[in-house]
Amino acid sequence: MKFLADGMLGKLTRWLRMLGQDVIYSVQFNDSELLELAKKEDRVLLTKDFELYKRAIGRGMDAYYVEGKTEPERLAEVAKRYNLQLTIDMDKSHCPICNTKLNPTPKEQLQGELEKNTFTYYDKFWKCPNCGQIYWQGAHWKQITNTLTQAQQKRLCL
Ligand SMILES: [Zn+2]
Repeated sequence: MKFLADGMLGKLTRWLRMLGQDVIYSVQFNDSELLELAKKEDRVLLTKDFELYKRAIGRGMDAYYVEGKTEPERLAEVAKRYNLQLTIDMDKSHCPICNTKLNPTPKEQLQGELEKNTFTYYDKFWKCPNCGQIYWQGAHWKQITNTLTQAQQKRLCL
């Protein structure tokens, strides 16, 4: 399953990519371009624009109107609708910045690219082969799992 998110869903896009989903996103696309691209690449259109949602549905496309007010709510509804796991396996994650699949990378290869403390305290790293961004489950990871736990709880209530 592949997604295309409208320009209002940048944050949701980054979450879905981390969850391993292929999501195209750009603030540059206008409505017609979104519809055309979704159709051409057989992507589910995620949108906060009800008019755009109706146009997509009217053309027989798979589209989802995102209503949640918070990130856990948005994640919960999309996960429920498309049966997505709300857990992150970094070996399957796509780069939140550019949507390329991440590569697990031995830390020896990253010496000089990381701050000394990061290099010392963490052992597992992933690198984006496209934009070069390096990821690890650092201090922010607790916040990420908190958000996902909230999303899992909300999903049960939908
Ligand atoms: Zn990247």
